[in-house]
Amino acid sequence: MNSSILIIEDNPLNLQLATDLLEIAGYYVLQAADAEQGLRVAAENPPHLVLMDLSLPGMDGAAAMRELKNSARTRHIPVVALTAHAMKGDDVQALRDGFDGYLEKPINTRTFAGQVSRFLTSKTPMLI
Ligand code: MN
Repeated sequence: MNSSILIIEDNPLNLQLATDLLEIAGYYVLQAADAEQGLRVAAENPPHLVLMDLSLPGMDGAAAMRELKNSARTRHIPVVALTAHAMKGDDVQALRDGFDGYLEKPINTRTFAGQVSRFLTSKTPMLI
C-alpha cells in the first residue's frame, strides 16, 4: 500500500505543485485548503504524514498541529511544517512548537519527494 500524505496549504498553486510531485513519486495525496478541513480529513482518514503550512486562514498551522497531537486518533502522525523561506527563525520555532520537522518554501521540486520520504521513515524530529 502506498503511503498517504495530507497536505494542508491555502495557496492553490503550492498545494497543486506539492500534490503533483508526491503523486509522481507514488504517494496517495489528500488535500485541504485550511486547518479545519485538514483536521476533518485527518480524523476521517488518518494519513501517514501531514505537511502543514504555518500560515493559514483561520486556525494557523501550529494550532492545527497541536489539535492533531491532542487526539488519540492522530497523535502518532508526523506533522511537518511548511515554512516560508523569508520568515527567518520559523524553522527553529516550528520544532520548538512540536512539529516533527520542517521544509522550506518555495519547495525544491527536485528534492521534495525524497525529503518527504525521509520524514516518513524517521521516528524522531529532524532537520533536513
Ligand atoms: Mn499559507
